[in-house]
Amino acid sequence: MYTAGRNHLFVPGPSNVPDRILRSMVVSQEDHRSAKFPELTSGILAEIKKVFKTTEGQVFVFPASGTAMWESALTNTLSPGDMVLASRFGQFSHLWIDMAQRLGFEVQIIDVEWGTGVPVEQYEEILRADKAHKIKAVLACHNETATGVTSDIGALRRAMDAANHPALLLVDTVSSLVSIDFRMDEWRVDCTVSGSQKGFMLPAGLGMLGVSQKALKAMATATSRRCYFDLGDMQKTNATGFFPYTPSIPLLYGLRESLKVIEEEGLENIFARHTYLANGVRAAVTEGWGLKLCAKEPRWYSDTVSAILVPEGADAVKVISHAYKRYNLSLGAGLSKVAGKVFRIGHIGDLNELSLMGAIAGAEMSMLDNGIDVKPGSGVAAASNWWRSHPRSA
Ligand code: PLP
Repeated sequence: MYTAGRNHLFVPGPSNVPDRILRSMVVSQEDHRSAKFPELTSGILAEIKKVFKTTEGQVFVFPASGTAMWESALTNTLSPGDMVLASRFGQFSHLWIDMAQRLGFEVQIIDVEWGTGVPVEQYEEILRADKAHKIKAVLACHNETATGVTSDIGALRRAMDAANHPALLLVDTVSSLVSIDFRMDEWRVDCTVSGSQKGFMLPAGLGMLGVSQKALKAMATATSRRCYFDLGDMQKTNATGFFPYTPSIPLLYGLRESLKVIEEEGLENIFARHTYLANGVRAAVTEGWGLKLCAKEPRWYSDTVSAILVPEGADAVKVISHAYKRYNLSLGAGLSKVAGKVFRIGHIGDLNELSLMGAIAGAEMSMLDNGIDVKPGSGVAAASNWWRSHPRSA
């Protein structure tokens, strides 16, 4: 049956796909081994490096998702039994650790409170103590999507340098790349894991992996078993503009258009827009509704997703399901430890003030319908006040 009015999609990925990008993906299939095909591939592989802020590294694009790029980063650079250092403060940092363990690496885990992020000082302490350099890689989640927490990767690099430790730095940027400032070369990140369905404003289906020269060298001695995600195979075929297997042609056209859209708005303007929009959402949550964010302090606030704690005794699952059924609004669920305690508003990708007003108004209506004591209109008023009193770009 036809449902009038659009769905308001505010999960933190997949994000909304701009019409221009949607249209660019309506293409006939074509021969991915034709003489013309490299024009498409080579342009994309060169252009995408700007988004990673790398000139020295190489970016790989797989028909896959972010999870696959975790695996590719680990297996291309490490050998079975290698020790890695990682911190856990949410479902995604947890899942990467779980994968590393299941792939046979020894993970030294720093558990920190959910709502905080990468504990840079602890990493430094542990790395300083590791005189024998047993730790081969350091893992960090730049933006923990489950709790709405962003960590300082530049500070982590400085800590690794201060400890004078040679470990590789592997970073998850699935929900930050293109939306929150990330500098692969400057921070000497060795593997940058990402995916298409968030900041790139595309459907899921492409995994992106930025790889430094140091990580490419590590491949030569890394003995982990790998096949589909072997970067060596990709390197060989990408060099002539092809893929080792059949790529998703519509997604590649979509990615080409996405990179044009990003270039037109400008990466720095996109970061500033995300900060500005996120500030309006945070004003709605804290000043309007009088609720708390899962992120414990402003230094952890994420500009791409806010995880909002419902009051004690209320059930966030009901708020989310009612918002969907009654108002056709998709909010992000609380995952694992915070299930039922939070709902999430994704503010990532193709958004402006008024699109976010839909999410704020809908979340507020759903909370009121569920007996949560917030003042009607208070979220919208607080966001409106914030946006109207601040310039759009920094
Ligand atoms: N890492 C983070 C921070 C994520 O938010 C996600 C997905 O939401 C993933 C990894 C997994 O990516 P994918 O679902 O594309 O496999």
